[in-house]
Amino acid sequence: MIDFSPTDEQRLLVDNVRRFVRTEILPLEADLDPDAGELDPTDHQRLVAVAERMGLRNWEAPAEVGGPGLDVVTQALLAIEMSQHRAGLYAPCYGVFGSPGLVQLAEGTEQQQQRYLYPTLRGELTAFFGLSEPSGGSDPAGAIRTTATRDGDDWVLTGTKLWISDADRADYGLVLARTGAGRRDITAFLVDTDSPGFTVRRIVHTLRTTHPATELELDGVRVPDRNRVGEVGGGFALAADRLVRGRIPYSAGCLGVAIVAHEMAVEYAKIRETFGKRLSEQQGIQWMLVDNEIDLRTSRLLILAAARRADLGEDIRADAAIAKLVCSEAAGRVVDRAIQIHGGLGVSKDLPLERWYRELRIRRIGEGPSEVQRLIVARHLLGGSGRRDDRRS
Ligand SMILES: Cc1cc2nc3c(=O)[nH]c(=O)nc-3n(C[C@H](O)[C@H](O)[C@H](O)COP(=O)(O)OP(=O)(O)OC[C@H]3O[C@@H](n4cnc5c(N)ncnc54)[C@H](O)[C@@H]3O)c2cc1C
Repeated sequence: MIDFSPTDEQRLLVDNVRRFVRTEILPLEADLDPDAGELDPTDHQRLVAVAERMGLRNWEAPAEVGGPGLDVVTQALLAIEMSQHRAGLYAPCYGVFGSPGLVQLAEGTEQQQQRYLYPTLRGELTAFFGLSEPSGGSDPAGAIRTTATRDGDDWVLTGTKLWISDADRADYGLVLARTGAGRRDITAFLVDTDSPGFTVRRIVHTLRTTHPATELELDGVRVPDRNRVGEVGGGFALAADRLVRGRIPYSAGCLGVAIVAHEMAVEYAKIRETFGKRLSEQQGIQWMLVDNEIDLRTSRLLILAAARRADLGEDIRADAAIAKLVCSEAAGRVVDRAIQIHGGLGVSKDLPLERWYRELRIRRIGEGPSEVQRLIVARHLLGGSGRRDDRRS
């Protein structure tokens, strides 16, 4: 039986972040537009300084590049706390603890780190992650049509990327492009968004109100070879590694908002009366709350188990896939039940539930849809008898 009780240090960090969310974020959020994704710049700057004093600025960065070097379990526990507010799913604490950016650059060259990673960690540059294309995102190895062709010291990139978050306000991004005919002949490049031939179009309407999705056109964009990340043909492994590791905080964010939705449902059920009784006395409502509790406990265990295995250096592809699948779907159910218990109030913008409900729907598609997570687990179960290819794994 694995012991998931937090250490004293983890408890302290969790308490500090919880207090921060309650005393700093929630009061500001009360005065923000319900769909806001950013704080007023003065508040943001002030809270960045607080995050720095807490020793948690760039909390996801490894110690080698100046981050606190937290283990994955601690990161997961903090991610669960940081998302517990209205914008928490896609803008946890409005980014004041730093954004993970392209943590893969921790393994990039010194020059790449100086030019891109450190300015990103200082909050001076922002990045996008360009994998998906109009030809499909579930199976990028099969679908990537963007090509990179060597020309002297440069590579020339041509193609289209679709659904890329935040590229319209990014300074650079990691673009995955095909450098050979084989399924895995994919290479990663750092591309500056002001490069000639690079254009971005914002896709205005999605369920998510922050982090607009965009379409990118690369029309003969020249990228110096020094901006190649990793080996030629090593891009898919690099992207897959990012996706697998990202599934733990992704799951933790789902759990964070679900925890608050459940707490709200419990509190409301205790005060709201219908048919002469409190909702909490109706068995139908009690069962909804029990199902919420089961979803939350299952999610937490799966996140912590995957995180623990990551800290042990074990292969977590199946664990991360199961966590992502279960947590994204469970959180959707929890928020849906919480809305139902609140009745009309549940769908009003006075409460955060409607925003979580909309944004959680994307969680079952982004970073690999639920069906692709099932494929990953099937390959893990079936080994050589399953088709061992490389869809988003
Ligand atoms: C708001 C938003 C932000 C995004 N941000 C980014 C980003 O920053 N960078 C980036 O690279 N991508 C991003 N994506 C893309 C996202 O990762 C893809 O949408 C996702 O991987 C699915 O790809 P697709 O939309 O092309 O669907 P497809 O690949 O066409 O699949 C369609 C559906 O088919 C089903 N399916 C697929 N394969 C199978 C199978 N083998 N068996 C059964 N069913 C299957 C799934 O339900 C899937 O949803 C974003 C998407 C959204 C919506």
